[in-house]
Amino acid sequence: MTSTAVPTDLTAFGDHLRGRLSEIAADFVTHGIAAGRVESAGSAEDRIAAVEELRAGHDDQVATMRRLQAALYDAGLAWPSGPVEFGGLGLGFGHDTVLDMVLDDLGFPSREALFVGLNIVAPALVAHAPEPLRTEVVTGLYRGDLIGCQLFSEPGAGSDLAGVSTRAVRDGDHWVLTGQKVWTSMGHLADVGEALVRTDPDAPKHAGLTMFLVDMHAPGVSVRPIRQMTGGAAFNEVFLDGVRVPDTHRIGGLGEGWKVAATSLGNERGTMSGAAGPLTPYVMERIVGLVRRLGAEADPLHRPQIARTVAAVTAMRAAAGLSPDSWSHRLEPVAGSVLKMLMAEAADEIARLASSVLGDAAFIDNGDPDSFAWSEFVLGVPALHLAGGTDEIQYNVIAQRGLGLPRP
Ligand SMILES: Cc1cc2nc3c(=O)[nH]c(=O)nc-3n(C[C@H](O)[C@H](O)[C@H](O)COP(=O)(O)OP(=O)(O)OC[C@H]3O[C@@H](n4cnc5c(N)ncnc54)[C@H](O)[C@@H]3O)c2cc1C
Repeated sequence: MTSTAVPTDLTAFGDHLRGRLSEIAADFVTHGIAAGRVESAGSAEDRIAAVEELRAGHDDQVATMRRLQAALYDAGLAWPSGPVEFGGLGLGFGHDTVLDMVLDDLGFPSREALFVGLNIVAPALVAHAPEPLRTEVVTGLYRGDLIGCQLFSEPGAGSDLAGVSTRAVRDGDHWVLTGQKVWTSMGHLADVGEALVRTDPDAPKHAGLTMFLVDMHAPGVSVRPIRQMTGGAAFNEVFLDGVRVPDTHRIGGLGEGWKVAATSLGNERGTMSGAAGPLTPYVMERIVGLVRRLGAEADPLHRPQIARTVAAVTAMRAAAGLSPDSWSHRLEPVAGSVLKMLMAEAADEIARLASSVLGDAAFIDNGDPDSFAWSEFVLGVPALHLAGGTDEIQYNVIAQRGLGLPRP
């Protein structure tokens, strides 16, 4: 399929998708995560997540995700904004969001475990990786054959990402990687990891970095889960102990790792605000349903918080709608930071609204519909102010790169 075969207008594109997706819906919407969560609304199984966490028995969920992604790819729908040569449609970022919204709306299973590979690793590969690595891995990620993770943060390097100390030492046509990464989302499921490492300890810190694609099943890679306050363990510590990576798996030039990281981070921040993120139509539908069911819209105690929530979500959606829509603009870091901040603020307001209308029932399953269901969302929202770079780092990006203000 090519971009001329589908409408480019976003509304028409959504209608087109509904028709196309009905062809494969029968295989996915009668079972899986989405159908499960809708059927279980009101019970202890019911959950609304800000940071999606696969639970015990996730093998089935992962297999379903991979199958769904392959079916979308075969239908030419897996990656609307992607370049045509990698199986995309050559459309805009907004078309990816519409795809996520329509999938969510029709009750397809979540593709959350694929988020990092699709939205963070693949754009960096498209922009910087050599052939044949680029085509092989990008196609694998977009077919769901591969799950990707981002090996950036370390115990001593989070906001100060250029301070990473994981080393790569050249050994013939290979590199040997040694060090520790942390907070690696979906590292336990990943097949490949985009690893920012230090290749030149004597160069200025930003210039001594290089990016590699690591085989997460290679000898020397070990992954340990980190338990979160939401109860899940979606991210991990990753230890690299003498892991051999061929030079052909270098993404970008030697010493150009920072440039590659910027591509990934700009895309991460922008796409976190899309429909695949925590403010899916599903979450919006649930919060509106909750407010109406409890009659909270008529309660003067809750009306200010309802207004704040509507304002924050409207602002985020308006900004997302205004954001540039072409593949090249996805790389714009300031737009990503602005959208990410608006998304996290809107998620805060939704969490406050859910907590205030539910009271204790937000955290205790009292048998009523929606009791406890929101606890995972409320507990997960603080993470949105950290993941993809903290609020303070986004403010720095906006101030310095967007507004041209001096460094503090
Ligand atoms: C849900 C989730 C998923 C994640 N997934 C991944 C992943 O897949 N891969 C990955 O590599 N990382 C991941 N991370 C890590 C994330 O990128 C880091 O947590 C984040 O960059 C902050 O780093 P840090 O935790 O080391 O905090 P620190 O950098 O130690 O920051 C501590 C505090 O100091 C503030 N601060 C630091 N520097 C400045 C400054 N210059 N100006 C003002 N304030 C400053 C920060 O804003 C923060 O409040 C994830 C994090 C979360 C929460």
